[in-house]
Amino acid sequence: MTKGQHYIDGQWVNGSTGKKREVLNPFDASVITTVVEGGREEAKSAIAAARRAFDHDGWPQTPASERARLLFRLADLIERDREELAELESLDTGKTVEESRWDMDDIAGIFRYFAGLADKDGGEVIASPNPNTTSNVVREPVGVCGQISPWNYPLLQASWKMAPALAAGCTIVMKPSEITPLTTLKVTELADEAGFPAGVINTVLGPGVEVGAEMAESHDVDLISFTGGIATGKTIMRAATGNVKKVALELGGKNPNIIFDDADFDLAVDYALNGVFFHAGQICSAGARVMVQDGIYDKFVEALRQRMEKIVVGSGFDEATQMGPLISAEHLSKVEEYIDIARKEGANLILGGKRPDDPKLADGYFYLPTLFTDCENDMRIVQEEVFGPVITVERFTTEEEAVKRANDTIYGLSAGFWTSDADRMERVSKALRFGTVWINDFNVYFVQAPWGGYKQSGLGRELGKIGLEEYTEVKHIYRNH
Ligand code: NAD
Repeated sequence: MTKGQHYIDGQWVNGSTGKKREVLNPFDASVITTVVEGGREEAKSAIAAARRAFDHDGWPQTPASERARLLFRLADLIERDREELAELESLDTGKTVEESRWDMDDIAGIFRYFAGLADKDGGEVIASPNPNTTSNVVREPVGVCGQISPWNYPLLQASWKMAPALAAGCTIVMKPSEITPLTTLKVTELADEAGFPAGVINTVLGPGVEVGAEMAESHDVDLISFTGGIATGKTIMRAATGNVKKVALELGGKNPNIIFDDADFDLAVDYALNGVFFHAGQICSAGARVMVQDGIYDKFVEALRQRMEKIVVGSGFDEATQMGPLISAEHLSKVEEYIDIARKEGANLILGGKRPDDPKLADGYFYLPTLFTDCENDMRIVQEEVFGPVITVERFTTEEEAVKRANDTIYGLSAGFWTSDADRMERVSKALRFGTVWINDFNVYFVQAPWGGYKQSGLGRELGKIGLEEYTEVKHIYRNH
């Protein structure tokens, strides 16, 4: 298991609250382990340690090639412990071990990608308008970074933040979701083994409203990076104004998946399912909002129904399982509430809409794949993020109508569409107001490409070269000879 303690200034500590928290297995609500629960004091100690490591202990001055070496070493250790990490992630989140293994492979790749970028930017010489002068533009690490991650992809989301910040020369205070802290703790242990200096990486456990809020408010934190819900993101943004710290937000999504009449039908059905039922729909880029053109609407709905009926729900540790439980009792209630809302709004329930009957699953937070048709744009089930195994289907007639509806949302994380018409690919990809647009695919992401949202889905980008730049300040150095 993990040490279950805070990691502050290179030491494993219990903190001063005396509080503990049980970490639950969503499969059957059993206790996996108990970890310490910190508060504002622990956050303050961790921020002070990160401040010292940045201001006095020389981490930003460490050659980029040495920072890269440590990150490569961490990636190797993650690969060494891949199976243990994957099982821990599945215990903590309920997702299938196969999905967790993919996550761990991605995570090792993310540390390697940013390790590789760490020593590549030597700055830029620009043309000064004045004779006998030189002008250089360099990037420098932004400073102490507070990083707050969610429960749905605990270590993956943490790695999107940790790897670029460390590569850029920042020091970090990481706060994993209190619901799913285990793999982040384990990777903190691996970072210690890899040899990162004390204070460079600090991990603090505890509730968002105390530990997270302290990180967002602290004048000693230079950048706060947050992944989670919109409401929390707005709270953090307000809290960050005190010292005008930089704010990076990866928030929710309600992602349209548009199927035109001329799509490759079977592939579009496959991906409509893949787009939603990963991790029981608890994914910010879930294509939960399926829009189908008139000509194929009935056939498409029937194909979806037949395929969804066969999805095997069960333990993430059972190889036959395709979909595990939801994360918590609280989240299960939220999904159930949305199902009631959809029914009252007049959406047509075709499948699911309840918990499984299987008595073996009765103690866990399971919910059946659920399909609603005849959905309208203004329904809450269409507009709001359910974060569960629920697809709503809307019918449309023209391309113009599809684009207008798809864009009619406060979200702007990702969208996909299916067509064989090259001109339409061009038109629709330009017209959709989302941070990622997939053509004839869905839910594809990789570390080389930037990820982030338009509108209320967020601020800034993670991954790609821009993901590293977000952790830097730009300095212009002008010299008059
Ligand atoms: P959440 O907002 O409830 O919590 C996220 C984190 O914020 C947790 O660590 C929590 O402890 C902390 N937190 C809570 N209140 C806080 C406060 N006042 N100050 C500081 N920190 C606080 O979100 P969640 O339920 O854990 O995650 C689900 C949400 O995350 C969904 O909306 C999902 O779409 C979003 N998400 C987005 C992306 C993306 O890439 N855009 C990726 C994954 C998840």
